[in-house]
Amino acid sequence: MSVKTRFAPSPTGYLHVGGARTALYSWLHAKAHQGKFVLRIEDTDLERSTPEAVEAILDGMRWLQLEWDEGPIFQTQRFDRYKEVINKLVDENQAYPCFCSRERLDKLREEQKSNKEKPRYDGKCRHLEQNENDLTKDHVIRFKNPLTGKVHFTDFVKGDISFANEELDDLIIARTDGSPTYNFTVVIDDMDMGITQVIRGDDHLNNTPRQMNIFSALGAKPPEYGHVPMILGDDGKKLSKRHGAVSVMQFRDDGYLPQAVLNYLVRLGWSHGDQEVFSVDEMIELFDANTINKAPSAFNTQKLNWLNQHYIKTLPISELMVHLQWHLDNEAITLENGPDLSLLIPEFAERTQTLKDLVSTIKPYYADFDQFDEKAAKKHLRPVARDPLALVRQKLENIDWKADMIQQAIDQTAQELEVGMGKVGMPLRVAVTGAGMSPALDLTLSWVGKKRTLSRIDKALEFIAQRVS
Ligand code: GLU
Repeated sequence: MSVKTRFAPSPTGYLHVGGARTALYSWLHAKAHQGKFVLRIEDTDLERSTPEAVEAILDGMRWLQLEWDEGPIFQTQRFDRYKEVINKLVDENQAYPCFCSRERLDKLREEQKSNKEKPRYDGKCRHLEQNENDLTKDHVIRFKNPLTGKVHFTDFVKGDISFANEELDDLIIARTDGSPTYNFTVVIDDMDMGITQVIRGDDHLNNTPRQMNIFSALGAKPPEYGHVPMILGDDGKKLSKRHGAVSVMQFRDDGYLPQAVLNYLVRLGWSHGDQEVFSVDEMIELFDANTINKAPSAFNTQKLNWLNQHYIKTLPISELMVHLQWHLDNEAITLENGPDLSLLIPEFAERTQTLKDLVSTIKPYYADFDQFDEKAAKKHLRPVARDPLALVRQKLENIDWKADMIQQAIDQTAQELEVGMGKVGMPLRVAVTGAGMSPALDLTLSWVGKKRTLSRIDKALEFIAQRVS
């Protein structure tokens, strides 16, 4: 049977790290087996699902380039099909209407709790007489879970799992308004779509035996299941907003590359020897769902940063540009207003871990800045810097704008004034880039350009004059 996996988010929020990892693993498993990957939007909870969340999930999937072969399929468009199966199960006496009131169920739950029993439906309506079945009255539909025996399966992440049917009660499959519930729709969809492997978070483990029982009632073979452990924050607690970016699109906004995020996610719960860097092609070649870790993994921002820097350094500029452009636009940087970006990338990639930082450090080469970095200005734009800046300006004005000529002008200034190189170089660096750090000055100035350099030195001289007065 050819492999088919799915990612089935509920659109109640953005695509978060855990969801993205589940999507990636499902996608990789399909790709690794030349199978198909389905995107299914589980939007039956009409109160909590929003169109914005659907868009946010699709945006996240697209940004990660996890293309789907089928979908997005919306469960809300399949209500007729769910109804058909619910009716079939009722006709076959595998499901039944339940008329128990909320009050009765609440009371039952309270009694069970006070007897230290697990709260569960007691099956009162399972055996109603025909004359008690007045379908004009409010009712839900419950699935007749087997009363005895076990549900056993081999989870390809967690190993052998078994649940006693006694532990499972008769699940509601249709609410009073007729709308189907989560555990039911999942089964019908996984069955109709021919899903062969389900990879999902282990918060769903308890749902699996219930779903498998519905599969059996329908005479269908359930998929294989792999439940992945949750992701923890670096403090060992469940990953949440407190830990920083948890939404995939937030990673984009913070300057991460999808290549780095995917690479990071694949390693967050799976490994191949001690290899850390995986291209998407390598992931497809090497990923094996049977070797997903059983233990929870902890998020590690430093490692993500390291991977991000690796990809900034190694991606071909054309690929990098696809993602860098978004940040350039954000900062209103026009590349035509400055040097060839491919000259700058190798220099700056060594110093920055995110595209956001990269863009803010290259900004002075493409656009004027309003302010000098406060600390750097305080230290280097002082009255002693006035003569070196004035003299180097004079020399720079008259040279051919080439790195060696620029260097010569700086050297000569230091010699003539009989000061160390730093006394010329540092004020010049702060004047021209606004900050105390940049690549070698000759390169820096050659990239900034003559006109800009001279006018920025003038600005720095004014700044010093104002400080003194
Ligand atoms: N819709 C469920 C969720 O977002 C996932 C269901 C599944 O993967 O079976 O948690």
